[in-house]
Amino acid sequence: MNPALGKPTILIVDDETINIEVLAKHLQTDYRVLFTTDPTKVKELAEQKEPDLILLDVVMPEMDGYEVCRQLKSQLMTRDIPVIFVTVMGEEQFEAIGFETGGVDYITKPIKPFLLRARVKTHIELKRQNDLLKRLASLDGLTGIPNRRRLDEFLNQEWGRAIRQKNTPLSAILIDVDYFKKFNDHYGHQAGDHCLQKIATALACALERKTDLVARYGGEEFACILPDTPLQGAIHTAEKIQQTVAALEIPHHRSDVANVVTLSMGVVSVTPQKGMNQEVVLATADQLLYAAKKGGRNQMQYATHQPEASETDNNQSSAKMHRLL
Ligand code: GH3
Ligand code: MG
Ligand code: MG
Repeated sequence: MNPALGKPTILIVDDETINIEVLAKHLQTDYRVLFTTDPTKVKELAEQKEPDLILLDVVMPEMDGYEVCRQLKSQLMTRDIPVIFVTVMGEEQFEAIGFETGGVDYITKPIKPFLLRARVKTHIELKRQNDLLKRLASLDGLTGIPNRRRLDEFLNQEWGRAIRQKNTPLSAILIDVDYFKKFNDHYGHQAGDHCLQKIATALACALERKTDLVARYGGEEFACILPDTPLQGAIHTAEKIQQTVAALEIPHHRSDVANVVTLSMGVVSVTPQKGMNQEVVLATADQLLYAAKKGGRNQMQYATHQPEASETDNNQSSAKMHRLL
């Protein structure tokens, strides 16, 4: 759930509009209610709208509610959305299947409004607490921006999305602070920490799209994932990052390249394809970052990653780069 959106969102799935209307009537004061009569659309809708709870009918043509629930539970993006079955099938064996497929609760029709609201409220509250814990677990303690764990999860999610959308590029920027060991040695570790915090905030400000992610990759390294972005867009973002950090004018009198803190960056763009290994993104960015360091620091190196035939055929990742520099 996105707290900025205010009311929690509930997705109601039922092939009969009248049933949706009855449920919505009891819930729409406290929740934002979305609905569909088509069970085959639930997975896609859930990914797009990120509801906090799904109320799911069991008997529907085309696909039954159990199958819908199985699908939701098999996907990383949707598996944590609680599903409550709402059905006329009140017998024990049907309830058991509902719980086995991953449902959190089972409500039988005709619904009792008070019980419906109470159960919905309980599961929404649990979902919120779960979201909060997940958010805390995905943030870096020092800088407050996402951590490596969140970066890996995000890359995995966006890699899959790019493949599904076909021929959609994805770019990444790997960033390393220049001569940071000397910075620590000269100004002290605490000043080093403070410097990393300032850089993290600057990076977060430099990213233009809501869909971009910047994370602390480790130590004095940061990484950005830019979904749906070709190389030119990524270079533009990297230039903006360089300017934003330069504008901080953090003194670094032990640096060999400038008298302020500077960054080196590896910028890569890939068009993800089935069978390709997603590790190629950061591995290539790392090679480019290394080249930027060797090239004198305070600069970026960029490339598009072109997969070899073997890479999409059998999952091997041999990085052949198309250098633009
Ligand atoms: P280069 O230009 O080649 O990147 O040189 P460098 O000195 O930045 O790289 P090196 O990998 O030799 O040193 C990285 C330094 O970053 C060493 C380490 O003490 C410091 N560092 C890593 N994490 C933190 C942190 O959380 N806080 C502080 N203050 N320093 C950190
Ligand atoms: Mg480093
Ligand atoms: Mg460094």
